[in-house]
Amino acid sequence: MPIGKLPPVGTLPANMYAQVIREERFGEPRSAFQMEVVPVPKPGPGQVVVAVMAAGINYNNVWAGLGYPLNVIAQRRAPGASGVSEDFHIGGSEASGIVYAVGAGVNHPRVGDEVVVHGGAWNPEDAFVRAGKDPILSSSAKAWGYETNWGSFAQFCRVYAHQCLPRPPALSWTEAASYILCGATAYRMLQHWSPNRVRAGDVVLVWGAAGGLGVMALQLVAAAGGVAIAVVGSNERGAICRELGAHGIMLRTDFDIKGDLPEGLTPEAYRKWIARVDGFKQRFLELSGGRLADVVFEHPGQDTLPLSCYVCAPGGMVVTCAATTGYRAATYLPDFVHKQIRLQGSHFANQDDCVALNDLVRAGTIRPVLASAFAFEETGHAHQLLYENRNPPGNMVVRIGAAE
Ligand code: NAP
Repeated sequence: MPIGKLPPVGTLPANMYAQVIREERFGEPRSAFQMEVVPVPKPGPGQVVVAVMAAGINYNNVWAGLGYPLNVIAQRRAPGASGVSEDFHIGGSEASGIVYAVGAGVNHPRVGDEVVVHGGAWNPEDAFVRAGKDPILSSSAKAWGYETNWGSFAQFCRVYAHQCLPRPPALSWTEAASYILCGATAYRMLQHWSPNRVRAGDVVLVWGAAGGLGVMALQLVAAAGGVAIAVVGSNERGAICRELGAHGIMLRTDFDIKGDLPEGLTPEAYRKWIARVDGFKQRFLELSGGRLADVVFEHPGQDTLPLSCYVCAPGGMVVTCAATTGYRAATYLPDFVHKQIRLQGSHFANQDDCVALNDLVRAGTIRPVLASAFAFEETGHAHQLLYENRNPPGNMVVRIGAAE
């Protein structure tokens, strides 16, 4: 089936084009992704196959292409793993599209439904999930299109039925593919971790505020009546943050903030470290009206986590979903304990978080921030931009079945 064309709704072709990662090509995104022809997957029980109109680009398939820190192909094929035999990976953890086939036991969605697909692939038959516990914490929960195969960088993708949510009618296919992964992740970080949920007047520091997560976080803080202070790497990125409701903008390049706390940390060494980074805190206080952050929206990790704790208010929360700059999380415990700060890990979202975020988009409260739309053939190039931190503000998408 040529790219951009679809068979009649409900008819699955035998083969499809896909952007495929293989172990022998692990490396930078520009060469890790290659277009190949592969079989179209069939839906298993509880699953559906969706014709992909557009697919969102996220950092996780930069990692998949690098084969680092995890070789996702080898992990799935390891003895005792899920029994998957494919020696390739089709990434892509969000999509907009049309349901083309449903597996046994699926009542909803139906063939022909227009959907957005979220990346939370947990098995609905898992005893933990059936017991009504938070499904994203279950042992069956996987990041679809990263930890699992048959993601959205293909003409057809395979997902669990619950991953399909109604497509917001006001959005193009391209826009509809751009918000659910980062949006639902940011929603959980800012609204799930009671009692540290963002409320009217709360001050929130948002790192990487013009990035994929950041543009969603800024809008969610504004929607809750919070005061977002956006940190960015350039004035161009700052301008979009202002449009998205940021109360204040900080250029991280104005400060010497990079870096971990020293090994063998002593009170004297901590005081020296403070002397280096205190300009950042003072500027933050100027912008926030003299208040420390009730919530710090973290993801850079090693380079920023000590500072995130330093600018966090007593009783506040540093919530993180990633470690883009390194895996060591250091803090000066006397301050951490004294201020009674919460350090909270957060990973994607559960069904309630996804539905709540999708409803905010359907209502027009949160809008997608489409950075660029690429042709399907440019999937590797788009990931390369992300890898080199050269991506434009917002979220990037590749068009597969859609013209717009
Ligand atoms: P992104 O679009 O690349 O944005 C991240 C931003 O972080 C960059 O634009 C950059 O902005 C900023 N940044 C980079 N290096 C920095 C540093 N040393 N100090 C401070 N800021 C820095 O990526 P994203 O989509 O927002 O994702 C960010 C991370 O979250 C990735 O690692 C991704 O895999 C992860 N993630 C995790 C989940 C989950 O469920 N666990 C979900 C989504 C994303 P400036 O240069 O403008 O400051």
